[in-house]
Amino acid sequence: MINTMKIHDKYMQIAIEEAHKSSIDVPIGAIIVKNDKIIAKAFNQKEKENDATNHAEILVIREASKILGNWRLDNTVLYVTLEPCPMCAGAILYSRIPNIYFGAYDSLYGAFGSALDLRTYIKFKPDITGGIQEEKCSNLLKNYFKLQRKMRENCIFPASSEIQCQGSSAGSSPPQLPFTFPRSGLKNLIFPENQNFSAPSRQIEKS
Ligand SMILES: [Zn+2]
Repeated sequence: MINTMKIHDKYMQIAIEEAHKSSIDVPIGAIIVKNDKIIAKAFNQKEKENDATNHAEILVIREASKILGNWRLDNTVLYVTLEPCPMCAGAILYSRIPNIYFGAYDSLYGAFGSALDLRTYIKFKPDITGGIQEEKCSNLLKNYFKLQRKMRENCIFPASSEIQCQGSSAGSSPPQLPFTFPRSGLKNLIFPENQNFSAPSRQIEKS
């Protein structure tokens, strides 16, 4: 059991490293493992590519399907840093991934037990376990949204393509981002005040 958990932690850590590549996007990473080998990795690229379907899970499923030459991802394991949304949960179920491990829970959009459970509506019932490296995955998101809120408080929105930051009225320096924020990206971002990335009191049930 301890060794099994160590393996899940190890793979989730790699998904977390993918999430760090998300740049302007909400940091979410995913990997697919088969026979103890990573066959595909991906991170969220919705804002970067201006494509609402470019969630990490969709991208990693596409990559794995291409590599295996099969849309059916039998005998694979998916690790993703955040509980999948309804779109991704649907894609995961339709690609027949039998084992799913996610990190943080998503009270607003989580479709594997938090906001809804898509398995209720579809015949295929994979094993799903939440809360792997939960604190790390959850902090990744909380820190990202905290930074976005600070950015919004300190930034103005000019007609040009880039955002200019000003010092706050309290005189503190504006937050520094490690990248240039495109206007289109910031405009589309959501700043969820009520989104909770912790486990719900009702634990997700294993099917
Ligand atoms: Zn999604």
